[in-house]
Order: sequence, then C-alpha cells, then structure tokens
Amino acid sequence: MVRETRLTPEAFVYPLFVCPGEGVRKPIGSMPGVFNLSVDEAVKESREAHALGVSAVILFGLPEKKDEVATGAWSDDGIVQQAARAIKREVSKLVIMGDVCLCEYMSHGHCGIVSKAPTTKSSGAAAVQVASDAPHHEKMKAIEAVAAKVVLAAAQPPFEIMNDATLELLAKTSVSLARAGVDVIAPSDMMDGRVGAIRKALDQAGLINTPILSYAAKFASGFYGPFREAADSAPQFGDRRSYQMDGANLREAMREIELDIEEGADMIMARVRFDVPLAAYQVSGEYAMIEAAARNGWIDRERIMMESLLSIRRAGASMILTYYAKEAAKLLG
Ligand SMILES: [Zn+2]
Repeated sequence: MVRETRLTPEAFVYPLFVCPGEGVRKPIGSMPGVFNLSVDEAVKESREAHALGVSAVILFGLPEKKDEVATGAWSDDGIVQQAARAIKREVSKLVIMGDVCLCEYMSHGHCGIVSKAPTTKSSGAAAVQVASDAPHHEKMKAIEAVAAKVVLAAAQPPFEIMNDATLELLAKTSVSLARAGVDVIAPSDMMDGRVGAIRKALDQAGLINTPILSYAAKFASGFYGPFREAADSAPQFGDRRSYQMDGANLREAMREIELDIEEGADMIMARVRFDVPLAAYQVSGEYAMIEAAARNGWIDRERIMMESLLSIRRAGASMILTYYAKEAAKLLG
C-alpha cells in the first residue's frame, strides 16, 4: 500500500533480434535466454509477451546481406520490415518499436556512412631524401622530418563517419519502417541532427502520428558488448567514440537531449530536467553479468533481476527496454 515505486509489465519493452529463415531460434552465447529469431518465431515471442501484459517489442534486424549503404535497413522487404508486417497482422494490439541504426546493415559495422580519410602522398610514402655526402646533422634533420610526418599520419584515424550523408539513410529507414507497421521510431545511432531529419521525412511521407523515441543520451560503453553479438553489429575497425557520448560528460548529455527534443523527439532515454516520457534500456552487458553471476551461484537470479528493474523504474523510467520483459512480467503475475 505504501510502496512508492511499482513495477508493471506494461512498462516493459521486449527487444527482439530478427534474422532470415524459418523456425530459427539461434542462441546468443553471451546472453543466455536471448535468441536470433526468424520472423515466424518473432511473431510467437510477440504473442507470448503480449499475453503476459508486456506493452511493446523493439525490433533489431540481422539482414541476409550487408553492404556500405545499409540497403537492408531501408529496403521494403528488409528483415525488420517483414517482421513488423507479420507482428502487426498477428498481434495487432502490441506496440512495435523499430530501432533505427545502420550498424547491423553495414559491412563495416559502423552506425553511419564511412569515408576513408584521404592519405596524402607526402605522408603515405615517406622517404629520406638527402645527399649521401651531406653533413651528419643534415641527415639527422631529414630523418626527423620524415619521422614527424609518419607520426602525424599514424595519429589521424584512417576513416571518418559522414554525419550528414548518414541522416538521409536514417530518414529513409524510418519512413520504410513506419510504412511496414512500426509504431514508434527509435533512432539509436547518435548522429547529430538525426531526430530533425527523421521527423521531417516522416511528416513529408504523411506519417505525422508516428512518434520518435530518441536514445539521448547514449554514452559510448563497454556494456553494449553482448548486444553486438546478438545484432552482429560490432565495428570492423575503430570504435564509436566519435558519435556516441563520453560517459564523463553530464552537461553535454543534457545538451544532446535538449537538441533532440527541439528537433521533435517525443520520448527520450533523463528525468528531472525534461518532462517527456522516459525510456531506459537495461543493456546487454548488465543482462550478461546477472546471468553469469547467477550461473555461478553467486547471486539470487530472480531477486537481482527484479531489483535491477525496480531501480531503473525508481530512477524515473516510465518504460524499460529489457531482455527480462517476459520473465519479469510472468513473476509480476
Ligand atoms: Zn549502430
């Protein structure tokens, strides 16, 4: 009666990783109990989740093929588009959220279009050019100059994420997903200006009632590791620190959130300052740690599962994206 925070199944959003095929339930090694599911299996999971009182699923896709323009993300017969149509048909009352990012569909695994930074000839082929009979100090100077060029070249990352070009693909993906039946567009890529670009594209396509759940503020984190196995989306080179946020920067996070709301985000992932619905993702690393510790008999799995969900709710989340959605809903009866 006097409990301040309540956990309810309606607050849960259940992540599903959809892959090609039929009858596929491929286990994810680092996330026991989580699977890659073919469309038919995703429909089954959705039906079960809905029956347990879970409000929504969020779909991630593992495409048949990957390329450098993320075709699988925005094509009308993309794997998530197929799943969304099937789930809408079979479990019409379930809210379908669609993750919008390109890393799962890019051959290089980055969330945006990658441009290989130009390597200039001078830094590429460095050669010491000095006469063999030159004085010693001149030879040393020439060698040092070349060494400095090499150091400079090595310090520059060999690639760059093209922010603005990426926005176009994200917008195209969002429209395609909404047309396939996705109710909420959830961009997780963290490119600058993405919410505005997506809102504009949705409106132009007449999808004015499709809300946007922004992942702001998403920090670059090691806790996303197991997810990358589940979504097969690990970057082939480099990392995501140029577009995801520095976990040490709270003020920057607030600016990112403010920008997203200005651009038209309907929901975000910070309470207190911003009075819009808040979603929180209990990420793969936390899930994997709970599962691993429980398997070792070090913790009481069910108790920790419910405590961790309650703490997220207590911190202000109105909805929780969690791999425990079905199980926690069952326990809540
Ligand atoms: Zn991504």
